[in-house]
Amino acid sequence: MSPRPGPTFPDWPQFDDTERRALDRALTQGQWWRMGGSEVESFEREFAGYHGARHALAVTNGTHALELALQVMGAGPGSEVIVPAFTFISSSQAAQRIGAVAVPVDVDPDTYNIDVEATAAAITPKTRVIMPVHMAGLMADMDALDKLASDAGVRILQDAAHAHGARWQGKGVGELDSVAAFSFQNGKLMTAGEGGAVLFPDTDEYEKAFLHHSCGRPRTDRRYHHQVAGTNMRMNEFSAAVLRAQLSRLDGQIEVREQRWKFLSTQLADIPGVRPQGGDSRADRNPHYMAMFRLPGWTEERRNLLVDRLVDAGIPAFAAFRAIYRTNAFWEMGAPETSVDELARRCPNADAISADCVWLHHRTLLASEQVLGDTAAIVADLVAAG
Ligand SMILES: *Cc1c(COP(=O)(O)O)cnc(C)c1O
Repeated sequence: MSPRPGPTFPDWPQFDDTERRALDRALTQGQWWRMGGSEVESFEREFAGYHGARHALAVTNGTHALELALQVMGAGPGSEVIVPAFTFISSSQAAQRIGAVAVPVDVDPDTYNIDVEATAAAITPKTRVIMPVHMAGLMADMDALDKLASDAGVRILQDAAHAHGARWQGKGVGELDSVAAFSFQNGKLMTAGEGGAVLFPDTDEYEKAFLHHSCGRPRTDRRYHHQVAGTNMRMNEFSAAVLRAQLSRLDGQIEVREQRWKFLSTQLADIPGVRPQGGDSRADRNPHYMAMFRLPGWTEERRNLLVDRLVDAGIPAFAAFRAIYRTNAFWEMGAPETSVDELARRCPNADAISADCVWLHHRTLLASEQVLGDTAAIVADLVAAG
């Protein structure tokens, strides 16, 4: 018997003549960097407007976006940045790269977002920034985190690498009065292969970031009067042109993914032993960067085998992030003076989720309900067999 054909999903990234025309437009400007062309500036205006932010600064990638934001927010040597233990490593690496200590805290077992009580318990006089990650597009509890931060006199930096177009109680990521960092890497919800952006509510901070991301050099400088220490994190014109096109199709894709997740998560929840990522009614728009589910009680090895079988069946499945303190990278610089075992003890949910969670690429959520029904049936079969 030949194996049944696997489900087929839309490709990612998606593009059409809009991207082609945009690239041609950037090419024929004759100036391919932001100081000569107009694509980066136009993209920044459009991206800021879309999220309700006063300012957007486009940069080279999402990791740099976090580094830049932390730097202008005054994190650095001698300070601590609180990050969720369950996230992509850039959240902690960005803090560590600029000389701060990254302090991992536990996440919620249902939403996988940073746990507010654990965050409160981790605040010390050295804490400068709390960095919630909106896991898979589900906004963290911004009300509780804002209150916590303002009571403690610390800042919030949203790692919004999964959260293009997300909303919290009707408000866009840029309307929450905190700085937010995005990624446009190949897999993200809008992409130019690589790229990043930072939203700033504050004009002075935005200006400081602009200087820093362009070698400390004011926009109009022609005499090499570099005013602050900096580096080059400037986005090029081609990336921005593509991102303008990508932004124009984001809303339509979010609408489809929201509908499809409702359908798929219901099907997944019916499978014995499978628990899809939970929600929060206040997170009233979720762009769905991943379709995530847990297999509570499963070991990492068993989960990994399941992921392999899902991939063999044609489903773009992945093992979830490893808890950041279980990587070598985390301990090389800027780690707290503690041990893996101690952090694992403090972060039981992050530890369990890293071992028992599976995620499906967001392009699965652009497929038809028919295909997603087939997908859920395959998951059910393989979970029962595994
Ligand atoms: C992708 C990602 C980043 C980093 O973005 P890059 O553009 O790949 O550098 C940061 N944080 C999270 C949570 C991410 O998923």
